[in-house]
Amino acid sequence: QQSVPLQRLESKSVCPYCGTGCGVIIEHDGQQITGVRGDPDHPANYGQLCSKGSTLHLSCHGSDRASEPLRRDRASGDWTALTWSEALTQMAGSWAEIIHRQGPQAVALYVSGQLPTEDYYVANKLAKGFIGTNHIDTNSRLCMASAVTGYKLSLGMDSVPCAYEDLEETDCLFIVGANVAYAHPILFRRIEAAKLRRPELKIIVADPRRTPTASIADIFLPLQPGTDVALFHGILHILIWEDHIDRDFIATHTEGWEELKARVQNYTPQRVAEICHISEAELRAAAQAFGEAPSVLSLWCQGLNQSSHGTDKNSSLINLHLATGQIGRPGAGPFSLTGQPNAMGGRETGGMPALLPGHREVANPEHRSEMTTLWGVSSIHPQPGYTAVPLFQAVERGEIESIWISCTNPVLSMPDQQQVQRALNRARLVVLQDSYLGTETADYSDLLLPAASWGEREALVTNSERRISHLQKAVPAPGEARPDWMIYRDFAFALGAALDQLQHPLPDQRDSSWHDRAQRLFDFPDSASIFREYQRCTQGRDLDISGLDFALLDNQGPQQWPFPAGAKSGQKRLYSDGVFPTPSGRARFHAPEFQGVAEEIDARYPLRLTTGRLRDQWHSMSRTGKVAALFASDEEAFLEIHPEDAQRLKLKNEDLARIVSRRGHNVLRVRIQKDLQLGLVFAPMHFGRRFAPAALCNQLTLPAIDPVSGEPEFKHTAVRVEPAIFP
Ligand code: SF4
Repeated sequence: QQSVPLQRLESKSVCPYCGTGCGVIIEHDGQQITGVRGDPDHPANYGQLCSKGSTLHLSCHGSDRASEPLRRDRASGDWTALTWSEALTQMAGSWAEIIHRQGPQAVALYVSGQLPTEDYYVANKLAKGFIGTNHIDTNSRLCMASAVTGYKLSLGMDSVPCAYEDLEETDCLFIVGANVAYAHPILFRRIEAAKLRRPELKIIVADPRRTPTASIADIFLPLQPGTDVALFHGILHILIWEDHIDRDFIATHTEGWEELKARVQNYTPQRVAEICHISEAELRAAAQAFGEAPSVLSLWCQGLNQSSHGTDKNSSLINLHLATGQIGRPGAGPFSLTGQPNAMGGRETGGMPALLPGHREVANPEHRSEMTTLWGVSSIHPQPGYTAVPLFQAVERGEIESIWISCTNPVLSMPDQQQVQRALNRARLVVLQDSYLGTETADYSDLLLPAASWGEREALVTNSERRISHLQKAVPAPGEARPDWMIYRDFAFALGAALDQLQHPLPDQRDSSWHDRAQRLFDFPDSASIFREYQRCTQGRDLDISGLDFALLDNQGPQQWPFPAGAKSGQKRLYSDGVFPTPSGRARFHAPEFQGVAEEIDARYPLRLTTGRLRDQWHSMSRTGKVAALFASDEEAFLEIHPEDAQRLKLKNEDLARIVSRRGHNVLRVRIQKDLQLGLVFAPMHFGRRFAPAALCNQLTLPAIDPVSGEPEFKHTAVRVEPAIFP
């Protein structure tokens, strides 16, 4: 017998981890992914991959892949296999009964920044256009929501105005609340290379922790957690005093300057140094570097966003760029780094409770009217739905009876985990749509719907610089697993049939039945048909992508939006003409007062806990936890603590410490870290019960949220630490 030679095939894709969006070439034999390498043609990474991206192929296989629909018995915890038809019929029956009895607001979806654009679009249409609930939020709420509201308040639209090329072109980088070295490693390599090429490039890093990113800083500002607004106001105070502001730009392109100027008058260098626990000299040096550089690029991530005042922090940083005219030029602008691979795509398709596709808003009657026409529905509920934390609180109250969670693990990733667990225990039906069986959330689910994963379907994603990539399918999904958009579509068909059985009233006379309505609204045979419909929603909007199609993306490579019909390429930078998408055409200064953290330290909880990422792990480790090499630098969860705090608490390196907050406690191994501030402790966010049963750091965090963005304050929790003594 002759053996059949293995095929050596390649498919273009994008790394499914961080928002850098590095191009990847998947090596496979048509059935199995056998290797990956960086795509030399992708403008995000030009062939480079970090430790996580370069081991992607090792994360694809495993016995915990979800390959068939499953039903869990709550009493025994046992799973039973179902057919797709059984699973969707059971779920649709349950949702139809809830909708018929309680109305559509009694069901909710909770999705993920890891879902591709097509999936986001269909899930959003299902919720807002078909079912009639705006209760659809995403785990991007935990990540970039404050950047969204900051951009909209200041610039009039949710958009990153810069491009990665600006990393190489800038004269001054202001990195604040972002550990780029760990969270966006390939962008950090680009920064390192730029600094090597041009040593005169000034780098300012502001962070409560001296992270590896600070290793390349010319000026490091170790500010107290939560004091960013005071820092930015203090810098602006000095910029005004030293006459580094751009009066022409302010006069021609902005509004609200006088109010802001009056606000920052009180933020004297001395006062700001006291609030931020930095020296006046450090503050003045940072302001001087910012003010004197021909171009300044600010990078930020969760350090600003994950805060009960995240919107204020974002808009106060953008103030600095508007006051100095540092926007819309090469190397200049405020540049938020997206955490997840398609958090941007989710925002674009309206996958949040206050949004509609094409950067439209639920609360705007004109936008609702445009979307009802585009979708062919009679109305969209005018009230924005719940954001993530209030959403799970509504589930706990019983107001929302069933929740459908896709591609995310809220039992690990949401703040105040005990609340999320109580909510899911209370829910009548918890549906989990995921590629993996072993997540913490699976333990609280009634129904598991198996989703195709990376490399097993085609997809579209948008990275941090507004660049849209087309990901090709390389191999088949295991067993019965399907693309998420297909599950949403097929559920719409099943729900239509179930609503017809209950004779649930139709919202209009356009269709003769819910079944017909579902068929009309979800006539999506493939990804391309979804993309075409979504494109129509962007026509004439700020993010117009009507000039794109799959073939163009494959032939010309990934493109930045906007890319309207007839365009030859996407737009590298926004606002180069100084016109902003606000009613007046001017960018807006905002003048918030500095406010402290939501939960201050006190005698019982005297230490400040901040949480964050490790270099080699991703989220709750469903993928990275499969790769042994990715445990080489950090084998387990840990608690970093300053040597003096450790000594006072009688803790040594490697001891086990108990960390207690007002909501819970856990046990972590001590790592003494001299670079940490006195009074600050740090724990990584990734480890769930599979890797460290007692180390879930979100048992400690609090559900306080930013009042505008709804983003939780992961970056500061008051805790106490004590030796863990076991009998
Ligand atoms: Fe993937 Fe981000 Fe690493 Fe690029 S930098 S390879 S997108 S994890």
